[in-house]
Amino acid sequence: MKNITKYIIGISILVFGFVACSQKENNEATQIDKPKIAVSIYPLKAILAELVGDKMEIEVIVPPNASPHTFEPTPIDIQKIEKADAIFYVNRHLDSWLVKPYNDKSVPVLKMIDRNLIENTLHHCTGCGNEHHNEIEATNEYESIDPHFWTSPKLVKNILPKLVEILIKIDAENAEFYRSKEKEFSEALVNLDEKIKAQLQHLKNYKIFTLHNSFSYFINNFGLTYGGAIEEKAGQEPSTRYFYDIAKQIKEAKIAAIFSEAQLKSNIMENLANELGVKVFELDPIGGKDSLTTYFDIITYNANVIEKAFGIK
Ligand SMILES: [Zn+2]
Repeated sequence: MKNITKYIIGISILVFGFVACSQKENNEATQIDKPKIAVSIYPLKAILAELVGDKMEIEVIVPPNASPHTFEPTPIDIQKIEKADAIFYVNRHLDSWLVKPYNDKSVPVLKMIDRNLIENTLHHCTGCGNEHHNEIEATNEYESIDPHFWTSPKLVKNILPKLVEILIKIDAENAEFYRSKEKEFSEALVNLDEKIKAQLQHLKNYKIFTLHNSFSYFINNFGLTYGGAIEEKAGQEPSTRYFYDIAKQIKEAKIAAIFSEAQLKSNIMENLANELGVKVFELDPIGGKDSLTTYFDIITYNANVIEKAFGIK
């Protein structure tokens, strides 16, 4: 009896051991086979994740608590970028460090904000860039475009065919999968757009002042009113003159709240709010932490913050 038990246990270990091994090998094999894409910021991952499902791995370079405006890649980040089969970034104002100077590989690189997006839906940029990063590339009139396109479901919908084109270029075998995901996501974006528009409709005359100019597409998309940015340039203290001017505008707007940002820390917001008797609410244009996982989470979260901020009067 003892021997039989031993025998059964032996067999079990063998069988389970074999299953465990082959599962591990399978996992490793799929991981090796999966194409890797590198993106600068989390919202690009959230968008691409809707298209790639489990067919690709997406590496986000800027961590959730950091701002792409003030970010510098580490040697580990550079390794991740170099291993990628495709690179997606936004534009010169935000994250061109992702491709320069590491773009010596022959992988597809997609700049999300480009002539391929309908030009008149893009906003020209005042203070949405970062001086240091701006120096990297030569000036080009088209580049003076507000980079925060992902806050508008409409603009995201516009760019989907371009994204799918790159995905198919690096993984033609799954072309049909990516096309059907595109259709699904596109429809979901239309629904999201309508839902948020209805939710915020009653707030369309409230001026929205943000820490930096990161929500103007969101505001435009949902028919809201933009007040201005408290920081003239992202991540930099405003000049005294600019500060007094924006404070005056906030006062005149007679609003209950102004909006800070999860990724850019600033002492000015609290001081300004105290002085003007308004509250500070925190928006999150990037997401990637807590419950802000999907593209829909990020947009819905910010809509809810704006609704809550103006709801208390
Ligand atoms: Zn920004």
